[in-house]
Amino acid sequence: MQISLRHSLFRILLGGIVITASLILVSVWNGTASLVQDSLDKEIDVAKEIFKYRLEAQASKIGQIGYLSSRQYSVISAVIRGQANDDVATTESYLDSLILRTDADWAAYLGLNGEVVASSPKEQLIGEQIPEAGRALLVDAENYESGFLIISDSLYHVVASPVKMPITIAYTMFGYEINDHYLSSLSNIMQAEVIVHSTTDVTSERLAIASSVEPAAAQYILKTGSERLNWLDFLTGGKESYVSRQVDMSDMGLSGLPVEITIALDVTKQYQGFANLLFSIVIISVIASAVSLMVVMLLSHRVSRPVSRLVEAVDSIADGNYEQTLPDTGNLKEIADLSHAFSSMQSNLKSREERIRFQAQHDMLTGLHNRNYVEEHIAARLQSRESFQVIGISVNGFRTINDLYGYVNGDKVLQVTAQRLSRWPGMAARLAGGEILYISETALDELQLETLRHILEQSVEVGLVAIPVKVSLVLLQCPADAESAEDLFRKINIVNDEATRSGSWLVQYDDDLEKHYLRRLAIITELKRSLQSDRSELSMVYQPKVALDSMTVTSMEALVRWNSDALGFVPPDEFIGIAEQAGLIEQVTTWVMGQTISDLSRFRAQGYTFSIAMNLSSHDIQNTALLERLILMLKDANLTPQDLELEITESDLVEDAVLAIENMRKLKASGFRFAIDDFGTGYSSLAYLKNLPVTTIKIDKSFILNLATDENDQQIVHTVLSLAHIFELDVVAEGVEDEVSMVMLQEWGCDIAQGYHISRPQPAEQLFDWLRNTPYQNNKER
Ligand code: C2E
Ligand code: CA
Ligand code: CA
Repeated sequence: MQISLRHSLFRILLGGIVITASLILVSVWNGTASLVQDSLDKEIDVAKEIFKYRLEAQASKIGQIGYLSSRQYSVISAVIRGQANDDVATTESYLDSLILRTDADWAAYLGLNGEVVASSPKEQLIGEQIPEAGRALLVDAENYESGFLIISDSLYHVVASPVKMPITIAYTMFGYEINDHYLSSLSNIMQAEVIVHSTTDVTSERLAIASSVEPAAAQYILKTGSERLNWLDFLTGGKESYVSRQVDMSDMGLSGLPVEITIALDVTKQYQGFANLLFSIVIISVIASAVSLMVVMLLSHRVSRPVSRLVEAVDSIADGNYEQTLPDTGNLKEIADLSHAFSSMQSNLKSREERIRFQAQHDMLTGLHNRNYVEEHIAARLQSRESFQVIGISVNGFRTINDLYGYVNGDKVLQVTAQRLSRWPGMAARLAGGEILYISETALDELQLETLRHILEQSVEVGLVAIPVKVSLVLLQCPADAESAEDLFRKINIVNDEATRSGSWLVQYDDDLEKHYLRRLAIITELKRSLQSDRSELSMVYQPKVALDSMTVTSMEALVRWNSDALGFVPPDEFIGIAEQAGLIEQVTTWVMGQTISDLSRFRAQGYTFSIAMNLSSHDIQNTALLERLILMLKDANLTPQDLELEITESDLVEDAVLAIENMRKLKASGFRFAIDDFGTGYSSLAYLKNLPVTTIKIDKSFILNLATDENDQQIVHTVLSLAHIFELDVVAEGVEDEVSMVMLQEWGCDIAQGYHISRPQPAEQLFDWLRNTPYQNNKER
């Protein structure tokens, strides 16, 4: 359970006060009570001594008179007379006179055995023996002997004296009653109360027989009085409280009687003193409590008020309000410290939140915004239906920059690019890698885009190195081109892809791009799946090539086919390029090599001697491992490099000439022959080709298809043929669709023809039939 500071302080102070007061009270009680007790004990002792002394004095006074009288003739004669005549009356009147002289209450003559001969008053005792205690006195009585007796329920102090003639013939006994009156008179001298009472007994309570106080009071004292001061009595008020003690009277001859004497002192006054003390302590405590309450109020005012104000302020900080100034907290040091601590916490939180927010919205490397931020930004702008231009900027070959110059310098390129871009009005964000998105304040026209490109493409100087930078820009018009930020990012990717593929620096988005992209995606997915499955959807067809001098089939071009379950027939032109870009070409070529070599073995088995021309893509010709594998596969099939021709396009040699040409030289050295495919579509000259390990050129079919009718084509082909022969290159004409063209080519000295006029590409099985029936018979060995 929680309690307030005020509460808790008050509790502590109050507890302290109560404990202190109680301790004071207890120690005062302890100290004083023992002092008082001592004095009370002494008072009782003194009272007892006075009591005894009075009794003894009285006894001796009576005893002397009794003794003297027992020696007088008149007494002796009275006794004798009484014994002889039973003239009791006379004797008693004599006793009465003695009583008057002695202040006694009772006088009697006793026989030698203690029987009462005469008694005044108490005539009823005559003839009876006095009690045992009295008889004991008689034995010892020489002059006189005092002691106690109980006669008809009253206590008497008696004195016995023998009556001698000269031998003892009787006894006189004088006594006075220890009654209320007597005790009252004594109590004045003793300054204490005296009670005569019955002895204690387990079963019965002590009963007062006589006392110096009222009988009820006496009984009350007997019942409640204790020897010591009682804390409890004091607490219950201390009114009519007595300290009492039963005094030992055995030396006075009280032993043997069923009575005891108790002396009691009224301690009401003492208790009253304590009560007064208690009262003042209580009053002081109350005052102290009131003062402490005030102190607590004051303290809590000075402590809890600023604390609760601080709590309010901190709550508000927790709600994200970092701007407030913390409340004045007074001059208590700890609270002021706390307030300062909160204040610095607030400013720390504020700066941290700012930092986090900045990090959440910015790219740490370039300081441009990040993808998250731009996503929200674009979503908001799309929502508002305003139209704006989005420019995607890619640093071309950013990965290559990293590889060549190191990541630090790659980062530097991005930072510099970001700096350059930030001078342009608008908003820029880095999406990933070397991709930046830029939204200009106003749409840029082509000239401005050109300028932007120019600025961004200035090389980046790092130390002594100048890193060349190429960028491509893609354009999208929002909201026409994209309906959401996500959509926009996806489309930027598509256009970027196109820019990379086409190598153009500026590409504008249009819907066809997306269609192509999706188609490419589908082809990649399906081709991958097909290559991984056991049953290949790929197959090979072969197209015969005829030597125009002998008019026989000297070669076949191997062409791959893909009949996809999902996409239907996909032309090789389409999927080979995609496979190259998607890194799947090695798998495709491997499959083609395997199938081609196995088919060639079958042709050889049938006795055919023609070679097979295989197409290699630009990636293949740079893939040394793949080419080594080809040699092994040929060996395994007992074939030689002479059994194959390798077709590569002109452009393959231009892209990364060094490695490609090196590989070609090696392969040529091991017996392979190379043909340049699609000759005429590129820029390379025959003179250039002559320096390469190439034996053949294939004139592109675009020059051949209409050769029969197109004079232009005729001129070109004619020229190529004449030059090729000068450079000692064999020439293949591909795309021969008619007899006229074929004859023309033959006349101009073309070495080989290939085309639908001879045969369409066919699967191996069909080719066996075709070969049997064709006029262009291959030299069968058998
Ligand atoms: P290419 O190497 O120039 O192949 C010749 C293409 O011309 C073949 O098309 C062939 O069917 C076609 N053709 C031959 N004669 C005629 C004709 O008289 N008239 C017409 N209109 N066309 C004719 P295909 O098979 O569709 O191949 C297209 C391209 O795909 C090939 O061009 C080649 O670049 C590539 N390709 C085909 N198979 C493979 C392969 O196995 N590996 C690689 N890397 N590329 C291949
Ligand atoms: Ca070819
Ligand atoms: Ca071709």
